[in-house]
Amino acid sequence: MRLAVIDGTAHAVLGDEVADLKMAPMEALRRWDELAVADHRPTGALDLNRLRCPVPAPSQVFAIGLNYRQHAAETGSTLPERPMVFTKFPSCLAGPNDVIPLVPGTVDWEVELVLVVGCGVTAGQDISERTLQKAGASPQFSLAKSHRGFGPIGPWVTDEVDGADLALSTTVNGEVRQSNRTSDMVFPPAEILDYLGGICDLRPGDLVFTGTPEGVAMGMASPAWLADGDEIVTEIEGIGIMTNRCVGPR
Ligand code: ZN
Repeated sequence: MRLAVIDGTAHAVLGDEVADLKMAPMEALRRWDELAVADHRPTGALDLNRLRCPVPAPSQVFAIGLNYRQHAAETGSTLPERPMVFTKFPSCLAGPNDVIPLVPGTVDWEVELVLVVGCGVTAGQDISERTLQKAGASPQFSLAKSHRGFGPIGPWVTDEVDGADLALSTTVNGEVRQSNRTSDMVFPPAEILDYLGGICDLRPGDLVFTGTPEGVAMGMASPAWLADGDEIVTEIEGIGIMTNRCVGPR
């Protein structure tokens, strides 16, 4: 099943049509197993421009740092021995067509496979403001990655692909910045879920951003930080495409 959000309600995506499930998005995600085997009659055409954040209010949003070898190298970090975990606060989540409001500082892109607990996967950008992320004795990963709009995900949640080996990429203004496969992860999705589930109570619809491959601005000799008007295209094989335009900072 592919589950998208249109006009605030959950919709099953059926090829180039959709079926309105007349259900709140988080309710539909909790009832995933039942809905995935149900018969859905189309109620309208699929319009990609109308898709909103497919998981608007999860109880928890985890994120994994330094989970691709070349990305750890480009940031001058050593590989962690266990998953390096932080959070993105749920209020930062946004949709596959939403603008990304930039803030003063140094704002960067990070394409990531996002696990949706009990449901499947979606694509995401772990937008990051590097100045705050690295400031202080205890770097502020969670805050620096939780500005409003810094967590676009989408275009839908799907269980039709296995996240273990998918091509993923970020293109900024037509230039490919990141391009790798999820099979290059240090800790693959199943291991991450086992690790987190051994400590926290994972609930249906909770999100796990699984880390980003190399090619972020932070790793460039002259970083091309995100700027007003930049267009970020995020693509993950078998999932889909998001297009997010940057605005500001104001
Ligand atoms: Zn990240």
